Amino acid sequence: MLDNSITCRLPAAASVIPDAAMSDYTTFRLGGACPALIDCPDADTLTASAHVLADADVPFMVIGQGSNLLVADGGIGSVVLRYCSEKTPLIEFDGFRVRVSGSTLLDDLARITVERGVGDVSFCSGIPGTVGGAIAGNAGAFGRQIGDVVESVRLMEGDGSVKEVPGEALQFAYRSSILKESGAVVLDALLNLEAGDIATMEAERERILELRRTKHPDWKNMPCAGSVFRNVEPTSAADRRQAAGWFLEEAGARNFRVGGARLFEKHANIIVAEPEATAMDVFQLSEKMIAAVREQFGFELVREIKLLGAF
Ligand SMILES: Cc1cc2nc3c(=O)[nH]c(=O)nc-3n(C[C@H](O)[C@H](O)[C@H](O)COP(=O)(O)OP(=O)(O)OC[C@H]3O[C@@H](n4cnc5c(N)ncnc54)[C@H](O)[C@@H]3O)c2cc1C
Repeated sequence: MLDNSITCRLPAAASVIPDAAMSDYTTFRLGGACPALIDCPDADTLTASAHVLADADVPFMVIGQGSNLLVADGGIGSVVLRYCSEKTPLIEFDGFRVRVSGSTLLDDLARITVERGVGDVSFCSGIPGTVGGAIAGNAGAFGRQIGDVVESVRLMEGDGSVKEVPGEALQFAYRSSILKESGAVVLDALLNLEAGDIATMEAERERILELRRTKHPDWKNMPCAGSVFRNVEPTSAADRRQAAGWFLEEAGARNFRVGGARLFEKHANIIVAEPEATAMDVFQLSEKMIAAVREQFGFELVREIKLLGAF
């Protein structure tokens, strides 16, 4: 629980949920409580809340839509600031340059830019999560990644201070950026896009959404967090990155299960949580998958999902 003397200093737009169950804020729908979750609808509320917590020496972390997280059954010790505007996309257009809030859903960004004939982030169609979470992890699909179109970002540091940095400073790499280590938060980003043909992009978006419908679990009905492991780096300069799912199939992991956690039938790199699953079931299943690939191929798979709390 957050002390009353701190709660009363938070901005009016911040809604505080004491002892919030993290299962309500993650797509795995697993995990115990945090001392308080503070829902921040916009950047001003987020920075003002961070200032109050930093002044009071209260540890906090920022999440978006919780689509890349596995929170332990015992919960987490730090206060959670949630920066996710599910209902109101915050996007401004200046020709083909687009200023988008880190709290905007990535799929809303894809949809709205397609509708405006501004291309081309249609590859983001159907990827859950926020623009901020996507930039932090350099989310992508079909060989493209969000970092390629980031001109600059406005970042909030741990003490609540704000600065604008160019995209290159974020050191984008495969599913990674410097933000994963620094913990700085994307308040908003300036994207440098291009002209696109609306009909072509709409068709491409529909093709991608259909592909996802057939190959990925519907996370709203089947709790998961997308790919559990990073794809595997090439062993020589000539090789392409190889799908972690292929190694898992070859290692015989397809029918692995621990408690209520099992592999998705159409994709060996995705764990789905059945209603009785615990976060520990998911963690232990992922350990079993790592061990199977180690035994068969002699290397360690690396998790893409972020573990929070004690496992
Ligand atoms: C069904 C499904 C399919 C998926 N498919 C893909 C895919 O094709 N490609 C892909 O790349 N990913 C995919 N993912 C994973 C996930 O959608 C992405 O990683 C997404 O970008 C995470 O965003 P989020 O807002 O949910 O972040 P969260 O899960 O809330 O947080 C993840 C990390 O980002 C940090 N973070 C969150 N917001 C910010 C911010 N504003 N500034 C800085 N750091 C922040 C958090 O502190 C945390 O460390 C998939 C997930 C699911 C469930």
